[in-house]
Amino acid sequence: MAQSPTEKNLKAHVTYLASDKLEGRLTGSKNEVEASVYIRKQFAEIGIKPGGDLGTFYQTFTFHTGYRYGKKNTLKAGRKKLELDKDFYPLAYSANAKMDGEILFAGFGIQSPENNYDDFAKLSNTEGKVFLIDLSLPDGNHPHSKYIDNKPWKKRLETAKKYKPSAIIFFNSDEDLTVEAYKKYHNLQQENIPILHVSPETAEKLKSAGKVSLSVDLQKDEIIGRNVVGVINNKSANTIIIGAHYDHLGFGEYGSSLYTGKIQQIHNGADDNASGTAALIELSRKIFEDKNPQYNYIFVAFSGEELGLLGSNYFVKNMTIPASDINCMLNMDMVGRLDSVSHELGIYGVGTSPDWEKLMKQVKNKDYFKIKTTESGIGNSDHSSFYMKDIPVLHFFTGTHQDYHKPSDDIEKLNFAGEEMVVNYIYNLVEILNRNPKIGFSKTKDQTASTPRFKVTLGIVPDYFYEGAGIRVDGISPEKPADKAGMKAGDVVMKINDYEVKDMHNY
Ligand SMILES: [Zn+2]
Repeated sequence: MAQSPTEKNLKAHVTYLASDKLEGRLTGSKNEVEASVYIRKQFAEIGIKPGGDLGTFYQTFTFHTGYRYGKKNTLKAGRKKLELDKDFYPLAYSANAKMDGEILFAGFGIQSPENNYDDFAKLSNTEGKVFLIDLSLPDGNHPHSKYIDNKPWKKRLETAKKYKPSAIIFFNSDEDLTVEAYKKYHNLQQENIPILHVSPETAEKLKSAGKVSLSVDLQKDEIIGRNVVGVINNKSANTIIIGAHYDHLGFGEYGSSLYTGKIQQIHNGADDNASGTAALIELSRKIFEDKNPQYNYIFVAFSGEELGLLGSNYFVKNMTIPASDINCMLNMDMVGRLDSVSHELGIYGVGTSPDWEKLMKQVKNKDYFKIKTTESGIGNSDHSSFYMKDIPVLHFFTGTHQDYHKPSDDIEKLNFAGEEMVVNYIYNLVEILNRNPKIGFSKTKDQTASTPRFKVTLGIVPDYFYEGAGIRVDGISPEKPADKAGMKAGDVVMKINDYEVKDMHNY
């Protein structure tokens, strides 16, 4: 059978997007930019108008991936120069500063009235001194210590700050300087004084020298990602959003690859999600040619999905139209591998509107598929970001496979005739939406307890953009512990039982 124009186009898009030339379309890379240019050109050729920043098709967002040392990280005990990462390192929370000061040994930096213990009681003239604090405990560093509540270094920091230090230097008399311990935070410089961690030997040198010179210079590592946004404005009151992420894993740099080989390889991401991106372009073409539109349409190719729904999260938080004016959001993530025998198609989020079921029954080519639905609006793709704004969503997915997040997710394994059927299904559904008034929204019970990306044991969906201490909650799953405890979106979690939640990356 001859290929239809749509099938040919789908194949052409995936051929380019999943080629080795684009090296796996990693968010923030030049390859992501090249992919975004391709999508922009396709939209523009079809006649779709730009819907991004400043009249362009692009919407950029930044994300902090960590930090690195600048050139000026130094420490001197008296005149003795110490070595970065061997004798000392600055904590991610440290302010950048250069200073000289007098050392004040503040013991364990603990005030524990219940144990009648206070390291600060015997100190005077504390203001402006550089505090040296031992992170061990007065009765030894073990789980049954009377002082265990004071163990977290942040607790010592809070106590010490009451005595106005000009800087704080931590060490742990029980262990050597473990270089990685306090370095893995992407949220930088929350304190307004320098904070260092030193080895026990360095601490002794500082004590005997009595004087210290230090300089902290930490630089943020950040990436800039970009969504590609196109619009068809029919001057309607309501809008339908159709989206698919176009980013993938690059060479697996950020760690969500399931490939275990030694040699780095390009993750082409043909199914995940060049397939959805191709479907997005072809849907925009069909909808552009539609003679009886009732709604406005926004087409978004998201970036940053693989790093935690970054692009869609940014998009929903920066929308220029109210969420209540959006009829629904249709998402496609991995729609290229429809099984040629079973024709099994996953449609997730059918519980997000009371209207989905009856609308889906009217879709012309529905009987071609064996449709598997789930209710929940929360899942591991970009539709979750929209569901969290009380927007009805559907997520289309032809199923997972053994090439998922591996370099072997290649174009040869795609079923383009099947993908065209998926595109037609979604287009038919859009036509039905066009004949109907704006649909209603309903909240769903969470069904994604086993979803790896969201650790939903507590039933919270974290805000990946939040940079303060703790975790800010973006959404709560009904009936989960967080919901039962009365948590709301916007709450910040600092502590889970006795475990201190330092930030997103500790969650
Ligand atoms: Zn994906």
